[in-house]
Amino acid sequence: MDLGFLCSIFPKVRNQKLAKSISDVSWTSLVSKLRYKAARYGKEVISISRWFPSSQICSDCGHKDGKKPLHVRERICPVCLSHHDRDVNAAKNILAYTRVLAIQIQTGTAGIAW
Ligand SMILES: [Zn+2]
Repeated sequence: MDLGFLCSIFPKVRNQKLAKSISDVSWTSLVSKLRYKAARYGKEVISISRWFPSSQICSDCGHKDGKKPLHVRERICPVCLSHHDRDVNAAKNILAYTRVLAIQIQTGTAGIAW
């Protein structure tokens, strides 16, 4: 089983600025198409919890320093001093987490949730 395809589909819709653009998209249709395309190419779509703190964790050292307002787009980790773009850092954390989930799915040890 190849689990190289990932998807996080649970945006934070309480944010007013994001709510409109999110409401313009049919998430059910998007997920359905992603699953169809993934299956066609022998891949699998992995969803993660909307509560996974992807933007709160340093992708270099793993330090978690809590929530930040959405307007904070960059940060410096207080532990390892790495400079992070919020979205790039979150993407790295989601990728790392989905790799762990993929291994857990393959080995039958999945079930640990955030
Ligand atoms: Zn760090």
